[in-house]
Amino acid sequence: MSSFVLAIDQGTTSTRAIVFDHDGAIVSVGQLEHKQYFPKAGWVEHDPAEIWNNTREVIGSALSKASITRHDIAAVGITNQRETAVVWDRHTGEPVYNAIVWQDTRTQDIVDRIADGDPHRLADRVGLPLATYFSASKVTWILENVAGARERAEAGDLLFGTTDTWVLWNLTGGARGGEHATDVTNASRTMLMDLRMCEWDESIAAEFGIPISMLPRIRSSSDAFGVASDDSLLREVPITGILGDQQAATFGQAAFEIGEAKNTYGTGNFLIVNSGEEIVRSSNGLLSTVAYRLEGEPTKYALEGSIAVTGSLIQWLRDNLGIIERSSDVEELAASVDDNGGVYFVPAFSGLFAPHWRPDARGAILGLTRFATKAHIARAALEATAFQTRDVLDAAAADLGTTLAELKVDGGMVGNEQLMQFQADILGIPVVRPVVAETTALGAAYAAGLSVGYWADLDELRANWSEGSRWTPTMSDSERERRRGEWSKAIARSLDWVD
Ligand code: ADP
Repeated sequence: MSSFVLAIDQGTTSTRAIVFDHDGAIVSVGQLEHKQYFPKAGWVEHDPAEIWNNTREVIGSALSKASITRHDIAAVGITNQRETAVVWDRHTGEPVYNAIVWQDTRTQDIVDRIADGDPHRLADRVGLPLATYFSASKVTWILENVAGARERAEAGDLLFGTTDTWVLWNLTGGARGGEHATDVTNASRTMLMDLRMCEWDESIAAEFGIPISMLPRIRSSSDAFGVASDDSLLREVPITGILGDQQAATFGQAAFEIGEAKNTYGTGNFLIVNSGEEIVRSSNGLLSTVAYRLEGEPTKYALEGSIAVTGSLIQWLRDNLGIIERSSDVEELAASVDDNGGVYFVPAFSGLFAPHWRPDARGAILGLTRFATKAHIARAALEATAFQTRDVLDAAAADLGTTLAELKVDGGMVGNEQLMQFQADILGIPVVRPVVAETTALGAAYAAGLSVGYWADLDELRANWSEGSRWTPTMSDSERERRRGEWSKAIARSLDWVD
């Protein structure tokens, strides 16, 4: 038996390859950032060719840092930024346009057209409200705006995929017979999958003008997706796991049972609560989505609270205001003042996602006085993550009729101690981080390793989870309520900005 499992994590800001051992510990990491393209206000693109080149490079560096070869890898798992849409030519492998990223809001007109006055029109079938966030309208935009794309798609020459599918297709041979497949979790974010059947809904695809021939085959999350091609460093290694990044983090946190949850703090924040075999329909602005499906087993569903802007607000302080040099500098700046000085920051840059789903909301900094400094703004930016998280947790509690006893967390922002303490204070429950905070990649590794018998079962994975850090609330109830009241007023202003 080979000794390791390799996970490819194709994220929004970077692509990583991580080698894991049987205990779920990290052996080595290769990582490369890719360029973010912002051609117009609200547009966000990635270059699919750059993503695939980076994927190849990071696989090489992860293997060489661990001093191992493909013979030491039992299986490969893929996890990915979800919803981001790539359309390419099946004969040449050439993308017809850049990848349109999940944050991109250019497709509002297409979404409005299909919503026809009711954004929840398709929610019964797909679990999602009509929003620019999901893949379908991005594919429609490409077919309507790239010269010749519609004809080529209708002739069967074009393929669509989220970035898991793009990486899988290329890794398994590309134009020379690559596998065109995805898993149920990624498919559940396209707006094109019937959530109960876990099959493409042909009538919805027709409404979006997307030919079925473009869509990848939907497989389980732990499944035989294919084998790496001869010209890759992973030649003949099986690819046996795919999960969208948030579902992968849930799997990596071993949240396998009903009511188990995790919150990931990355570019955006994503709360996922496992709802078992039941599809829970939210009355409070959460999404119904697939948690995972193991081969031959029933689909497990989840409720999700998606927040568009959390970590990316810290990047905005860095790139657009220039008040910090690196994201991690926000810690020192925010800690240089005692409190937020009455400043609140609602980062509604692409409208507000859960629980509001208001594309017309806009960002707002409120409560400014002559006293306020960049440090207060930095602090307010961090606090915005904690307040938004409280709002989606309240929504989940209302839908499920129970409250969480504690919150498992992961992602790039959870290294920030001050934020985690504030999060525990604003939630009023403990916040817990596992030893291995790279839960996204770990979840993909788990799905892949389960399929080939590298790990025997879910119990074995659960046994790998161990607590790294814990923050317990210290704020008084009255102070918490006062702060939440001010935050709610700030949210109301952001929602009112455009009428
Ligand atoms: P993704 O997987 O979405 O690409 P990561 O999980 O790698 O994101 O998290 C990166 C995000 O975390 C970035 O948006 C960055 O601004 C933010 N971040 C990194 N370090 C800190 C920190 N010390 N405090 C607050 N935010 C941070």
